[in-house]
Amino acid sequence: MLDEAKYIWQDGKLVDWKDAKTHVLTHSLHYGNATFEGTRAYKTDKGLAIFRLEDHTRRLLNSAKILAIECPYSFEEINKAHIDLLKANMECYTENVYIRPLIFLGYGVMGLYHANAPVNMIIAAWNWGAYLGEDGIKNGIRVKTSSFVRNSVKSMMGKAKASANYLNSQMAKYEATQCGFDEALLLDDNGFIAEGSGECFFIVKDGELVTPPHANSLESITQDTVLKIANDLGIKVIERKITRDEVYTADEAFFTGTAAEVTPVRELDFRIIGAGKRGEMTRKLQDAFFEVVSGKNPKYNKFLTYVN
Ligand SMILES: *Cc1c(COP(=O)(O)O)cnc(C)c1O
Repeated sequence: MLDEAKYIWQDGKLVDWKDAKTHVLTHSLHYGNATFEGTRAYKTDKGLAIFRLEDHTRRLLNSAKILAIECPYSFEEINKAHIDLLKANMECYTENVYIRPLIFLGYGVMGLYHANAPVNMIIAAWNWGAYLGEDGIKNGIRVKTSSFVRNSVKSMMGKAKASANYLNSQMAKYEATQCGFDEALLLDDNGFIAEGSGECFFIVKDGELVTPPHANSLESITQDTVLKIANDLGIKVIERKITRDEVYTADEAFFTGTAAEVTPVRELDFRIIGAGKRGEMTRKLQDAFFEVVSGKNPKYNKFLTYVN
């Protein structure tokens, strides 16, 4: 169950968690046009800090634009709303916090044509630890190549973090979980590796880091952070297409995402990857990542928005 906090920011006001409600004829509930972000705030020596808030807000507003949703709030208003909410809920936050802003089409019109629907926005933030489990972070997870192909750029718009795009993700996650795996790995419509159900993918081969280019998919903020960290550590990074059989024989593999953070992959389709546990380079990048988000690397302080 969700670890409830005190307030949710809803359409410009802080309302009690239990009162943040919407009508059953909410447009987005029926047709799926909505956009969200997943953002995290980490504990630091100077209190809670939101990681790359401005980058998440920028992407949220770009997603709304792509989806032809006119967000009634400005970049500055959205950033401030995040801080106001976290301040108001501070006593509830006993661990790292996951933040979920959502812009959706509300109650008032039905039918597919959405341009006259009112636009609503909420931001919720609650205690949420490792998305793929603490054990997954330490020891790696088991993954299955999905029978679902990642949304094609010919029919969906992957640059938007759109709720509708997540039907594909959700079905892939369901299939993988029901089959006894922790996560799904989706291929693109040419058969190359696209990404996980909600996270980017990396392999390590002969000391080099390889990740698929995101020409058709979301510009991931965590992937970008990990690539910057790899650069700092002098690790050679190659952005190129990867096939599933290459993963079977890779030395290491891992997922990155705001929710997944840096999670090692120890098995794909019953093939043990490398030593079958968190690899050395994965651990190095993971350690550096957690230093960055928790404010222990001054070079990346610009990415932290301190709440107090
Ligand atoms: C959100 C998301 C990611 C991860 O992006 P981050 O910016 O790193 O959180 C990866 N893939 C998909 C499909 C996503 O929606």
